[in-house]
Amino acid sequence: MRFLGDYHTHSPFSHGKSPISESILCAEKRGLKEIAVTDHGFSHSLYAVKREDIPVMRAQTTQYVGDVKVFLGIEANLMSYDGDIDIRLDEINNLDLLIVGYHRFVSGGFLRFSLPNLLSVYTHIGKKKRAVRNTEALVKAIERYPIDIISHPAADFPVDITEVAKACAHFGTYLELNRKRMLSDDDVMKVLDTEAMFIASSDAHSADKVGDFAVAESLIRRLDIPYERVANLEKLPVFRGGRIRRA
Ligand SMILES: [Zn+2]
Ligand SMILES: [Zn+2]
Repeated sequence: MRFLGDYHTHSPFSHGKSPISESILCAEKRGLKEIAVTDHGFSHSLYAVKREDIPVMRAQTTQYVGDVKVFLGIEANLMSYDGDIDIRLDEINNLDLLIVGYHRFVSGGFLRFSLPNLLSVYTHIGKKKRAVRNTEALVKAIERYPIDIISHPAADFPVDITEVAKACAHFGTYLELNRKRMLSDDDVMKVLDTEAMFIASSDAHSADKVGDFAVAESLIRRLDIPYERVANLEKLPVFRGGRIRRA
């Protein structure tokens, strides 16, 4: 089972430990054809990448000379029930890839949006209602922005995965098989009942984890997920945003 690209990795510009150059070399060693550096969006309370660092990161990704194609993206934060995210369209257009995920600690959206979801980690009371509102929020974001990947879907964020997957299928957004925060078996099977596609990612925070797809691989085998349903398995993904162009 061969994955050709890893499109969700972090660098010291947000929460990663290894310099971008090291992550790229690890991707090269593991035989990947492509890697994307996707640090945490501007509103993350603890590990946000800074707007002024984006050009510095771009320069670092273009310094590498070798066979791996290197892309610069971001893992933006879902910020509200209206589907707001913490990056503007003009900024998205200057990046190669847009990941969006729900993270608990975001400045500007914590009290109204994150806190109710934080409670759902500890209690099931009101979880169904939250799932309805969360689903609406995510679907609105998918409609409003050219999102390429939803990171760790449903992690700490109850949703109706079938409705999210239908929106993803319609717009061409991939649902992530995340190394650390995997979908439940039940949710994977629900996604398979739609037309949505998965993409496997390491979400590496250090170079040694770049291209580590062991968790996705065992899940794909165990649940017998057809290879054609995983966008970076034995092939290169075509991203919705179309900002990655291959010669
Ligand atoms: Zn994340
Ligand atoms: Zn991440």
